[in-house]
Amino acid sequence: MKTVKDLDLENKKVIIRCDFNVPIVDGKIVDDTRMVESLKTIQYCLDHHCKVILMSHLGRVKEEADLAKNDLAPVAAHLSELLHKEVLFSKKTRGQELEEMISRMEAGDVLLVQNTRYEDLDGKKESSNDEELGTYWASLGEVFINDAFGTAHRAHASNVGIASHLPSAVGFLIEKELTALSVLDNPPHPFVVILGGAKVADKIGVIENLVGKADKILIGGGMSYTFLKAQGYEIGKSLFDEESLDFCKRVLKEHGDKIVLPVDYAVTNEFTNDEEYRLKDAKEIAADEMGLDIGEKTTMMFEDILKEAAIAIWNGPLGVYEFEKYKKNTVRLLEFAVENNIKIILGGGDIVAAATAAGYKEKVYHASTGGGATLEYLEGKGLPGIEAIH
Ligand code: AMP
Repeated sequence: MKTVKDLDLENKKVIIRCDFNVPIVDGKIVDDTRMVESLKTIQYCLDHHCKVILMSHLGRVKEEADLAKNDLAPVAAHLSELLHKEVLFSKKTRGQELEEMISRMEAGDVLLVQNTRYEDLDGKKESSNDEELGTYWASLGEVFINDAFGTAHRAHASNVGIASHLPSAVGFLIEKELTALSVLDNPPHPFVVILGGAKVADKIGVIENLVGKADKILIGGGMSYTFLKAQGYEIGKSLFDEESLDFCKRVLKEHGDKIVLPVDYAVTNEFTNDEEYRLKDAKEIAADEMGLDIGEKTTMMFEDILKEAAIAIWNGPLGVYEFEKYKKNTVRLLEFAVENNIKIILGGGDIVAAATAAGYKEKVYHASTGGGATLEYLEGKGLPGIEAIH
């Protein structure tokens, strides 16, 4: 892995692709984790007297109305606070104004370029890795660093495109993510995988790739009901992913010894936080009921297995964690992992959001900043944003 430390950075114009795709509500950044995680690489470049040009996407840009919603200006302002220095901001992704701002930069200056996906309005140039766009952006710098793990599974102009024209390396954040995930290439045993979230379909690749290496795969969340159905049980109004039913049947037949399914659930009649729930045996869900969280017995069973793990990876919440009532057992298992010093990797997305809200994010072995990229890594796929580094 070529990292920033392998680059000759002194006094260079360096382009850093960051992941500043942060949630913004009413112009305010509500979770700046990804920005904070980017600071180490930015500071390293500043220490090497670079002119630092930052790029990032924010949200999706499909039509004119998406431009204002996804303006990176609040990110520039917040970054300036985090770095304790002025951050220049180019409102444009290309053109004379941007080029002049760059030509006026001095060593130690930082400039953030407008949302790279503004280029998607004109024929998806960023997201389709348009050759002309990648070449143009690369012409703005001398060296390229990719530190956006969250988009490493995509071949876009702002990562793969630029990397193909400049000497490049990964930043400290991507290095940290890959160092943690690569432990799973040859994991110590017992290796425990915890999967939750809504759909089996999203996790098929992960199950296929990890079932050989894993000692146990614990399944909770919305995806568990399709496995129960595959065993012939009534799942009532619980989430059902019909297209994945045959897959579930096959996995249970071939690897039934490794797959651990819930034995009880918190069930109710409506998809709401307002009604009381009942704890029910997994085999006793009625036709008018739906499971919205795993139950007490299941959580204890998962704890017993997790206790023995030499390493664990967890992707997806075990219940509807957005509802106060149904986040309980996801939080309890997180707490158990932290209190028992289990070496656990949280695979980005919802499970990291749940850990952040509960105050456990900083206490786990690793919490990924990229849900999609982590999933593709776990599926055994290469990440184009990293493969393009040379
Ligand atoms: P994913 O994006 O696949 O990780 O799924 C996360 C979503 O799964 C969250 O929004 C959860 O609310 C949802 N989820 C988890 N458990 C359940 C469940 N038992 N029923 C319905 N949705 C669930």
